[in-house]
Amino acid sequence: RAKQIGIDTYLFFDNEMQLNVSRILKIDSAMHEALTQKQFYLEYQPQVDIQTKRLKGVEALIRWKHPEMGIIPPLDFIPQAESNGLILPLGEWVLETALKQLRSWLDKGFQPVVMAVNLSALQFKNEGLDKSIEALLKKYEIPPEYLELELTESMMMENPTRAITALNKLHAKGIRLAIDDFGTGYSSLSYLKQFNIHKLKIDQSFVRDIATNDDDRAIVSAIIQMAESLGYSTIAEGVETDAQLEFLQQNSCDEYQGYGFSRPVLAEVMEEKFLSAKG
Ligand code: C2E
Ligand code: MG
Ligand code: MG
Ligand code: MG
Repeated sequence: RAKQIGIDTYLFFDNEMQLNVSRILKIDSAMHEALTQKQFYLEYQPQVDIQTKRLKGVEALIRWKHPEMGIIPPLDFIPQAESNGLILPLGEWVLETALKQLRSWLDKGFQPVVMAVNLSALQFKNEGLDKSIEALLKKYEIPPEYLELELTESMMMENPTRAITALNKLHAKGIRLAIDDFGTGYSSLSYLKQFNIHKLKIDQSFVRDIATNDDDRAIVSAIIQMAESLGYSTIAEGVETDAQLEFLQQNSCDEYQGYGFSRPVLAEVMEEKFLSAKG
């Protein structure tokens, strides 16, 4: 029987899967070193007003440059960091680096912008989250309304009652909250109105074919109307073309983000190209 399983397992792992498995193991062990060896860094993607294209915020996106494996995209290591627990120190590093960056921009006299930071499920579940965020805001003297936390629908729906309490705690401190990848999860409408949030981020899968696909057009326009009636603002993700932008403008989406305006960029590029002096 054991041998049978062994053979099945062997057959199951064809060459390509073997490569994937060894890559996963490699990433797992490399990740632990990466934090201390400063292999992680952040890029920032502009979030702009849909009508005026004025800069409103930036989303911090983590990057990992490994000395041998090169650039590893977040979707290749965030889920693993989530399961091996490293996401907690990593998430803390992201929050601190983003707020430190914002402090430096404010010190240089740039206009204030909202700093949007992605949270992982484990971070959101962590009891100490609001305390550690509060400490970081204090350390870098950042008013809470300049921090926006991005959470996904599935993170909230895993335990909606607990999520409502956690959101309320963050909301009460003045921190902004956004639901990321909106439309891909299973938010029930009755919960949605109980979530104390500010913004819905319309997932890029709905935006992609918005210029041509009637279903996607109907979905996006319904999300925008629903958000408006619940008092939430909207931002469309993954906007690449003028045709997509035009539809979103006509349907009164508030902001957009995507390659059509800018890819995620390093902080220096952000300063040179997008941030402007106050006043
Ligand atoms: P997300 O939060 O939904 O971020 C949007 C993703 O779409 C980013 O991918 C961004 O580079 C990409 N994107 C932006 N505009 C366009 C566009 O016009 N077209 C296309 N095709 N893509 C666009 P990225 O940076 O690879 O991040 C992927 C996901 O990894 C993020 O999705 C987020 O869930 C996660 N992630 C990234 N950074 C962090 C982090 O610091 N912490 C946590 N927990 N998750 C993160
Ligand atoms: Mg996000
Ligand atoms: Mg998103
Ligand atoms: Mg997304």
